[in-house]
Amino acid sequence: MSVQDSETLANYKREMLDQSFRDSVSTISKEGNRNYIHPQKPKGKLYNLRSYFSYGYLILFFTLPFLKISGEPVFLMNVLERKFIFFGKIFWPQDFFIFAIGLLTFLVFVILFTVAFGRLWCGWACPQTIFMEMVFRKIEFFIEGDIAQQKKLKAMSWNGEKILKKGGKLIVFFMLSFLIANFFLGYIIGIDEVGKLVEEGIFINFGTFSALVVFTLVFFFIYSWFREQACIIVCPYGRLQGVLLDKNSILVAYDYVRGEPRGKVTEQGNGDCVNCHACVRVCPTGIDIRNGTQLECVNCTACIDACNEIMDHIGKPQGLIRYASEHNIAKKEKTTYTWRLKLYTIVLTALISFLAILLITRADVSARIIKTPGQTYQIKEGDKISNLYNIKLANKTRRLIHVDLKLEEMEGEITMINTIDVPKESYFQTSFFVIFKKEQLHHRKTKIKVGIYENGKRIQTATASFLGPVIQK
Ligand code: SF4
Ligand code: SF4
Repeated sequence: MSVQDSETLANYKREMLDQSFRDSVSTISKEGNRNYIHPQKPKGKLYNLRSYFSYGYLILFFTLPFLKISGEPVFLMNVLERKFIFFGKIFWPQDFFIFAIGLLTFLVFVILFTVAFGRLWCGWACPQTIFMEMVFRKIEFFIEGDIAQQKKLKAMSWNGEKILKKGGKLIVFFMLSFLIANFFLGYIIGIDEVGKLVEEGIFINFGTFSALVVFTLVFFFIYSWFREQACIIVCPYGRLQGVLLDKNSILVAYDYVRGEPRGKVTEQGNGDCVNCHACVRVCPTGIDIRNGTQLECVNCTACIDACNEIMDHIGKPQGLIRYASEHNIAKKEKTTYTWRLKLYTIVLTALISFLAILLITRADVSARIIKTPGQTYQIKEGDKISNLYNIKLANKTRRLIHVDLKLEEMEGEITMINTIDVPKESYFQTSFFVIFKKEQLHHRKTKIKVGIYENGKRIQTATASFLGPVIQK
């Protein structure tokens, strides 16, 4: 069959699909109430693979806060103290430019990744999906059973069994939410700070305690009730999909060319889809993937496993639902490296290179020199003029740094008020005088350069203005 023929057939089959699903959201009923999704327990190769992947992910999540380099965590996002650590390297607000470029690089990476692989992140690596599907959902299946038992339990009037199962589940969910909140907070303020709650008590660490309570309640709310709505309603990344995906993006997709028209396997002229709804029953967001790419689909692959099992059962090849692009399905084309992808790759490579240069050349100490407010100049003995300056330094390293100041490009003196010893990971502020002979000054304002030296090596040059008396010509 030629490409045109397969495209015409694909268009015809696509038009046959009922489009009414586009008028509603799977989690909201016609009356506007919450449609609580009870997916069937998934099973299959991809589910097993995702489970193993998630175990590794969870081990990493619960271990990372304890990993330290020279007494400091490997990762920290302390927004309150404006201190950020990535792979053991400390970043301060002074590194804002690196942050901005890093964020831009990440954004382009996300775009490139999404254009190529759709929502692969959502299904395999997003913490929301991992915790929901691989932790909380598994516990729910364990306590309440599979879809049939869950529905039976829901319909049951409140008796001992229902109270025990529902209550027990909520208690376990709450305890887990509390545990996750502890670690989540550990990533923000450091796990040692969280530990102080136990050592020193709630009252001394009331801020930490309050944050812990808020996070616990938020996680409990999300995993016990809000669930897939976090992906459908709240997540901005999910909302971006419509803009980023194109017909070459690889997604979890139903091969409607092969599958339509749906019907019994015994009836002639039918496609491979036997309309068994196994793919719908396992979907955690309650959608029918046969309707095409939808905002709700988190690419969890549960429907692929479910359909593969049915295909095995009826003796058809697996992959009626699979990772594929629209062009793979409609035109039977192989996935290509499109111009759009190439362009994003070029931009991403340029950004990564720039970021690498910024990181390699990043100074250990940053300094800012300003003239002391309210001061002009002082006349000193020997026809000398002095100006008073403030210097503020940030030591981004984990060692004490001793700094010397020297005038660059001009002969003159610097008189320190204190020696500059900047403690590790801290700010340090002091003042110093710059002194010139009067005959060196030719203008009222002279631009000066001050070199900042550590162990005789210049680490930065700061500029400032030197004020002198008005020059009579
Ligand atoms: S449609 Fe399939 S891949 Fe998408 S969320 Fe539902 S089960 Fe997961
Ligand atoms: S599981 Fe496969 S065969 Fe069954 S309805 Fe879904 S796509 Fe059709």
